[in-house]
Amino acid sequence: MTSEDTGAFYVVTIDGPAGAGKSSVAKRTAHELGIKYLDTGAIYRAIALILAKSEIKPDSEEFLREALSEIKIELKENSVLVNGFDVSGEIRTSEVDELASVYSAVPAVRESLLTLQKEQENYGSLVAEGRDVGSVVFPDAKVKFFLTASPEARARRRYLERISKGKEADYNEILNSIKQRDINDSTRKLAPLSVPDGAVYLDTSDLTEDEAVKFIVDHVRGALLK
Ligand code: C5P
Repeated sequence: MTSEDTGAFYVVTIDGPAGAGKSSVAKRTAHELGIKYLDTGAIYRAIALILAKSEIKPDSEEFLREALSEIKIELKENSVLVNGFDVSGEIRTSEVDELASVYSAVPAVRESLLTLQKEQENYGSLVAEGRDVGSVVFPDAKVKFFLTASPEARARRRYLERISKGKEADYNEILNSIKQRDINDSTRKLAPLSVPDGAVYLDTSDLTEDEAVKFIVDHVRGALLK
């Protein structure tokens, strides 16, 4: 069933820690439901990349606000543009993993990206993926999920993903980085990673991606019929 069938736009949110398989699951869920996919992590990565390149420190509130007011982020079907430049490739590095985690804990950064994220629901139904999409960005979403897996299962997946793309990878380094990001994301004061109210909790440690996608799609279809 699509938004065209129901005549109204709806939002599905998928939150969860780094490497829980959210991106591929959210992308495929959106595809199966015939709706858009909103990768909020890509937005945080893009902003972190440009702030770091501009040598603006996360704790320099005043410079940060000024810089943020001059940064224009655009979301295209399969890419993210910063002030007109496509940064989609550049944001997928372990360096940007860390940068995004640090800059996303800054209130000015989260505030400036909130409107951009919220307005996406005006353009059609979507599957939004992130850390606070079910709690802060789209608290009234039709269906919410919290996707997680053990740190080891997540590190293994990220390791295999990097290797399959011909990139260098070190399992222990990835595991440590995932654990560190979990700590950063869940202990920060603003919008800490947490299970949103009313979210369906799904541990994918022992599930294949197909099984996770099927579970979510079936659940959404059921909720749309209600
Ligand atoms: O999901 P992804 O790994 O691309 O996100 C990169 C980082 O951006 C996360 O580790 C998290 O710190 C931050 N993020 C966030 N809120 C979101 C999405 C991502 O704080 N909604």
